[in-house]
Amino acid sequence: MQITTTQSSLIPLYRQLMISTLIALLAVVAYFILPERATQVLPDPHTETHLFFDNQNGGSTRAEWVDKDSYSFKCIAANGGIAAPYCGMNIHFGQASASENYLHYQRMELKINYRGDNQRLRLKMYSFRPAQMNEKFRETMTGQEISILASETSQLIVMENYGLGRNEGVTATPLSPLENTTNNAPNTLDISIDLVPPITPGEQLIQLESIVIYNALLPADTWYLAVAVLWLVSNLLFIARHLILQERRIRNDSQRLSSLAHYSEDLIQESQHYKLLSSTDALTGALNRNGFAAEMSQFAPDGRLSANTSLMIIDLDNFKRINDSRGHDAGDVVLRETAQIIHKNTRATDRFIRWGGEEFVLLSDNTNTQPALLLAEKIRAAVELNCIKFHDEEITVTISIGLGVARAQENFDALFNRTDQALYKAKHMGRNCIVLSENHTQEKSQTD
Ligand code: GH3
Ligand code: MG
Ligand code: MG
Repeated sequence: MQITTTQSSLIPLYRQLMISTLIALLAVVAYFILPERATQVLPDPHTETHLFFDNQNGGSTRAEWVDKDSYSFKCIAANGGIAAPYCGMNIHFGQASASENYLHYQRMELKINYRGDNQRLRLKMYSFRPAQMNEKFRETMTGQEISILASETSQLIVMENYGLGRNEGVTATPLSPLENTTNNAPNTLDISIDLVPPITPGEQLIQLESIVIYNALLPADTWYLAVAVLWLVSNLLFIARHLILQERRIRNDSQRLSSLAHYSEDLIQESQHYKLLSSTDALTGALNRNGFAAEMSQFAPDGRLSANTSLMIIDLDNFKRINDSRGHDAGDVVLRETAQIIHKNTRATDRFIRWGGEEFVLLSDNTNTQPALLLAEKIRAAVELNCIKFHDEEITVTISIGLGVARAQENFDALFNRTDQALYKAKHMGRNCIVLSENHTQEKSQTD
C-alpha cells in the first residue's frame, strides 16, 4: 500500500499525541509514588491542655502535671472508687488547621511514653462543632478511638489510613465517620489520652510525645484533574500547531506548483523558440533546409510532387558587389528586406526557403505555369522597385528567377535540377529576369 503525503504528514502529530498520552498515563500512575507530606500535629505551642480525672466526682483517681509543655502527666489511683474511673489529658487545638490533615490522613505515627501497670491506654481524636457544643455535644462529635496495649507504648505506634493499626496491640474504632465540614463552621480538633479502666492502683506516668500525620502531597482529584487538563491542552496545542504547519505547507506547495507551471510554460515557449530556430533562418525568417526537409517529409514523403506544384529558385543578382562595396552588414539588410518582399507576395500555403547564401526557393502547390509566371513576375518587379535604406544610402537590387512546374509524380530533385538550369540561363541572359524550365523562356520582363 502506498503512503500518501497527507497520511505521512500526520505521522508527527500521531507521535506527539502518543507521547502526551504516554506521559499522562505515567502521571496517573506516578500519583502512587509521590512523596508524602508530613505534618507535625504535636507538639504544638498553640494548644490548650487540661487534665481530667474522677477524683472530683467521687472517684479515687487524680492527675497531676509532670511537664505541661511536653504533655507529660501522672495519674495516681487508689483502691476503690467509682465503677467507671477515668484519668487523662485533653489537648485542644481550637480552630484546628490540622483537622483537615487528620481527616484525610494516610498514616499517623504516635510516640507515647508510659510508665505504669495499666493494661491499656486510649487515644481519642475527635472534632465537634463549637456552635453546637452543649450537654449533648457528643452527638456532633466525630473521630476515632485508638486502644493501645500498654506494652506497645515503648514502640512507635503507626496507624495506616482510617483505623488500621500496624502494631499488634493497637485497635481503632471510629466514634462516627469523620465529616468533611469544609463548607460548614470550621472544626476543632481535640486529642485526649487516658487510662482504660480498670485503672491499676498506684502512680502511672503518661506522656504524649509527638504525633506526626502523613498525607498525599496532593489530593488525588486535584492531581488527576491537573493531568487531564495538561493532557487536553497539550493535545490541543499539538493539533493547532499541526494545522498551522499544514496550512503553511499547502500554501507553499501551491506557490511551488504555480511557479512550476510558469517554468513549464517558459520551457514550452523556449522549446518552441528553439524548434523555430532549428527550422527557420535567423536573418530572413524563411524556412531553412532543415525546416523544409521536415515539411517535405509531410507533404511529399516519397519526394514525389503532385502536378501543378511550381518551384522558383530566386537568386539575388551581383550580390557580392553589395557586400564588397557597402560591407557585409549592408548585404545582410538587403538579404532581409528582399526576403520580406518575396514573402509578402506569397500565399500562406507556399513554402519559402532560404536555400543558401543569397538564394531562395519558393514552392507553391496548385500553381500551374501561368499563375506561376505571374507570381514570379510580381515578385521580381516588387524587388526591383524596392529601395532599401542602409544608413544614408539607398540600395536597389534585382533578382533572377528559375521557374519549374512539376509534372505528375515528378521527383523534387529532378524538378530542382531543371529549375536550377533555368536560373543559370536567367543569369546568362543578363539577370533580373525569369526563365521557365524546359525551354519555356520568359523574355526579360523588364525594360532596361
Ligand atoms: P550572381 O549575380 O551571379 O549571383 O552574382 P553574385 O555576386 O550574387 O553571386 P556570388 O555567388 O558570386 O556571390 C554571392 C555572395 O553572397 C557571396 C557571399 O559572400 C554572399 N553571401 C552569402 N551569404 C551571405 C549572408 O548571409 N550575408 C551577406 N552579407 N552576404 C552573404
Ligand atoms: Mg547571386
Ligand atoms: Mg547565388
